[in-house]
Amino acid sequence: MKIYDRLYIGGQWLTPSGTGTIDVIDSGTETVMGRIPEGATADAEAAVEAAKLAFDGWAATPAAVRADYLEKIAANLKARTDALAASICGEVGMPLKLARAIQVGSPVYNWNLYAKLAREFEFETRVGNSLVVREPVGVVAAITPWNYPLNQITLKVAAALAAGCTVVLKPSEVAPLNAFMLAEAIDEAGLPAGVFNLVSGYGPVVGEIIASHPFVDMVSFTGSTRAGKRVAELAAASVKRVALELGGKSVALVLDDADLATAVKSTVAACYLNSGQTCSAHTRLLVPESRYEEVRALAKAAAEAFVAGDPRDEATRLGPLASGAQLARVREYIQRGIAEGAELVTGGADMPDGLIKGYFVRPTVFGRVHPKATIAQEEIFGPVLSILTYKDEEEAIRIANDSIYGLGGAVWAGSDERAIAVARRIRTGQVDINGGAWNMQAPFGGFKQSGYGRENGVYGLEEYLEYKSMQLKAPKPN
Ligand code: NAD
Repeated sequence: MKIYDRLYIGGQWLTPSGTGTIDVIDSGTETVMGRIPEGATADAEAAVEAAKLAFDGWAATPAAVRADYLEKIAANLKARTDALAASICGEVGMPLKLARAIQVGSPVYNWNLYAKLAREFEFETRVGNSLVVREPVGVVAAITPWNYPLNQITLKVAAALAAGCTVVLKPSEVAPLNAFMLAEAIDEAGLPAGVFNLVSGYGPVVGEIIASHPFVDMVSFTGSTRAGKRVAELAAASVKRVALELGGKSVALVLDDADLATAVKSTVAACYLNSGQTCSAHTRLLVPESRYEEVRALAKAAAEAFVAGDPRDEATRLGPLASGAQLARVREYIQRGIAEGAELVTGGADMPDGLIKGYFVRPTVFGRVHPKATIAQEEIFGPVLSILTYKDEEEAIRIANDSIYGLGGAVWAGSDERAIAVARRIRTGQVDINGGAWNMQAPFGGFKQSGYGRENGVYGLEEYLEYKSMQLKAPKPN
């Protein structure tokens, strides 16, 4: 049991202003695995003030020196790999082996990447008689969710620090222990006081204070569309810059000449990664009507190969959902799918066989889902795949785009050229072509109600930079 009773503000571990605490629940066992402070208004305000105070010094620190700090933080995190993976495995439920690679490996990679980008980025250019300078946007409020908790934190905090911004982080109350471990790694790296601050607590209190505080220049939010809208409303009052990474209902569009077996197997895997709790998960499998029976059989076999079990067992591919609330929500969607008349190909709302504790759900596939059905339109955030069919390519593109979201997606075809031509017509931020792999340096973010702004690589760094143009009297001779 890991107990944190202090908040990291102004370079110190401070006793919170209130006495409230939040229990962190192990999703595989439903037992309390940790406890954190329930930060209050005064704590959030103190953190913003500390970040404001630290801003001028950090912004003036040479980028190469900022990079040195980021590298130290990466090394300190890497040294904690086993503890972090074990913690996130409990907090989120992702199987340990995957958690080590994805939930810890990616953040370590990204802290190093932002160090490299800070060193290499051209913060100044000349345009005619102007010197165009990229300056940090200011104090950043980072509000993050629980599904890839440390990486979502990293994509905001490492990028903002590389840019020269100072940060107040409000991590998810569902999976916050990793954020405290990061704060320890940052403290150990000797980052100047106030450059990074951590205040745990609930969204409507700590989140809303930092999203509306006049000293905060930018809010970067990842989470639900509901909370994202609220954050954008609050930030608008003082015209803050806002970046929103929200939900998705991404499509895997399979064209008639695609390798069906590979496309279906890969889509089931992309849908079920992290028990379906991935915002860019491919949750709508869109296939030619004439191939439905084949797809159905392939999807059933692929889904049934995912056996839910103890996430600490190295052989487990499908862990529990992150919380009891998430489990209730996913079960409700499964029941809704059945009630609305979709064909239940495999799975269902009951607990998987052989399990009695933990927030487990059966890997589920629905067939012949109507494009307007709830399970084809709303984000479920569980291991639930909906198979939809189309008659011709035009109808396929129309159904693919029939969503309020546009975050991820895939196109499968007999050739990359054909897949790319169709991908260009899908209104979404990312499309995997014939199984193309995740790229940690490619821009990630949404169209439509999936949000605005981009994370990853240099695109993420630029989110935290302002432009300043200085007009010089005489252009510099070349
Ligand atoms: P959530 O919106 O409930 O919470 C996200 C964060 O916002 C948490 O830290 C929470 O405390 C805070 N929050 C909640 N209400 C708030 C408010 N009124 N003001 C300020 N902050 C508030 O979402 P969640 O349940 O943690 O995460 C699941 C959702 O996040 C899913 O919908 C998923 O698609 C989305 N998500 C998107 C991405 C992406 O990159 N696009 C990544 C991960 C998750």
